[in-house]
Amino acid sequence: MFEKILYPTDFSHEAHRALDFVVRLKDAGAREVVVLHVIDKGSFDAIARYATKDILEIEKNLKERAIAEMRPIEERLEKEGLKVKVIITKAVPYMGILEVEKNEKISAIVIGSHGMSNIEEIFLGSVSEKIVRRAKTPVLVVR
Ligand code: ATP
Ligand code: MN
Repeated sequence: MFEKILYPTDFSHEAHRALDFVVRLKDAGAREVVVLHVIDKGSFDAIARYATKDILEIEKNLKERAIAEMRPIEERLEKEGLKVKVIITKAVPYMGILEVEKNEKISAIVIGSHGMSNIEEIFLGSVSEKIVRRAKTPVLVVR
């Protein structure tokens, strides 16, 4: 039932905690995990506007950093016997996540309740809230 899981991560502690639940979904039939990081287009454009460095260079650095952050996640999932596909895109984060949900024929999404900002008073982060509202597949929100 939950064959192909989408795990979007901003590499925060909160998102990392959700990874344990991706692994647990093996018992519910999970075989493959799409690990997705969306480079926030809004933040990128804001940086690019004031940057003195070449913006292509900045984008390359962001991608390289994301690839490095992905590696231990990939290793963990592969060690658990799961097939892994890594995707790094640049978009509005929730839109990037919904796009991959559509294109990759995802069966469920596992996401942190909070992320990098991690403001406790807020019930859900803005990305996870939009995903819960708009995703077509079931969403497991990990507190
Ligand atoms: P906000 O961004 O609204 O200030 P927040 O950072 O605490 O609040 P969210 O951004 O909604 O909370 O993060 C919730 C979860 O959404 C994360 O744990 C992660 O799973 C996912 N997520 C957030 N941003 C991204 C991103 N850029 N790429 C992939 N996944 C993301
Ligand atoms: Mn966030």
